[in-house]
Amino acid sequence: MKNLWDEKAAAKCVDQLDFRVYTSNLLGANDELVLHGGGNTSVKIEDILYVKGSGWDLSNIQREGFSPVKLDTLLEMAQLEKLSDSDMVNLQRAAMTDKEAPNPSVEAILHALIPCKFVDHTHADAVVTISNSKNGKEYIEKLYPNFLIVDYVMPGFVLAHKIYVMTKGLDWDSIEGIILHNHGIITFDDDAKKSYDKMIEAVTKAEEFLDENAALEIQRSYEHSGCDIAKITKTFSKYKGYEVHININQSPLASYYASQPNLKEFASRGVLTPEHIIRTKRAPLVMEDTNLEAGIENFIKEYEEYYMRYENGEIMLNPAPNYMIIKNLAVISFGATKKESDIVNDIVEHTMKAVLRADKLGGYVSISEKDSFAMEYWELEQAKLKK
Ligand SMILES: [Zn+2]
Repeated sequence: MKNLWDEKAAAKCVDQLDFRVYTSNLLGANDELVLHGGGNTSVKIEDILYVKGSGWDLSNIQREGFSPVKLDTLLEMAQLEKLSDSDMVNLQRAAMTDKEAPNPSVEAILHALIPCKFVDHTHADAVVTISNSKNGKEYIEKLYPNFLIVDYVMPGFVLAHKIYVMTKGLDWDSIEGIILHNHGIITFDDDAKKSYDKMIEAVTKAEEFLDENAALEIQRSYEHSGCDIAKITKTFSKYKGYEVHININQSPLASYYASQPNLKEFASRGVLTPEHIIRTKRAPLVMEDTNLEAGIENFIKEYEEYYMRYENGEIMLNPAPNYMIIKNLAVISFGATKKESDIVNDIVEHTMKAVLRADKLGGYVSISEKDSFAMEYWELEQAKLKK
């Protein structure tokens, strides 16, 4: 992975927050590290944590995108046995020194716990690809002997508290970073460049491992042919309940992916990193025949069953699929706007590559269906619906 640090650009930084903005933008510039608002970063300046504000994207975050939160409050919160994520958000807001700033990231407490100035967190494709493979735990342990390795738990307070418990009394100098299984990676240092360098080095390690053990040879496996865009748009708009925009992907990767045997099972093994589920759902609609309406209706029925298995009073999301794979033809993503459908497509593009590579390592394995539901129906996401 290319290190994008540029001395000339860095020389323009006048303070620590400038450096924080600069290396955040470097992380955000690489879609194999973070995608569309994914990941988060922070810097500690005296007794304040400046952490990525929600709604900001690392690729273009500015100084005002960092939310200033009192460090000691966050450290006290980490020790609580129990805290709902909604209460966490409220307490974090109350501890902000500038009420005009955006809401702090839901990972603010986790950032506070790491006693280094700069903390960088990404959802690096290469790392999660390995982690999301059948022997992922073994591979990750071998690749990262000096990292703290954390089994999957829900992001937000549960994860922060788990890290608090795991690192009580830990000599932080003895670890180089943290791997969050099925989720991502964290590096840190008192120096902005070093923290960024550590991220690039660690991810490069994973990339080299994949190149050696899970190289992909993608060849378009059939002739490019068209789809009936008008029919697809009309049918999906009916089931979604609004005018959908679509993104049609017939890249070599999408074509290859759409031509895999047992396509429905193959493509329904879950998300690459938990937050993707808000955009893509856990699985796509897989079409192996031409009856689109029946296909969507069956998807909705299965989605409703999934919802019923786990619901505890949550509001059901729109049950129609967010993307579709047409056997031997294309991957099609949907959104309420063109931009939204393009974002879904970007996420699916990265997921397809990861699934194919993880299969070369013995099989792709994402978080469980139950954990997926917990993420998809996270109270913070539900709160947005109730507004
Ligand atoms: Zn994350």
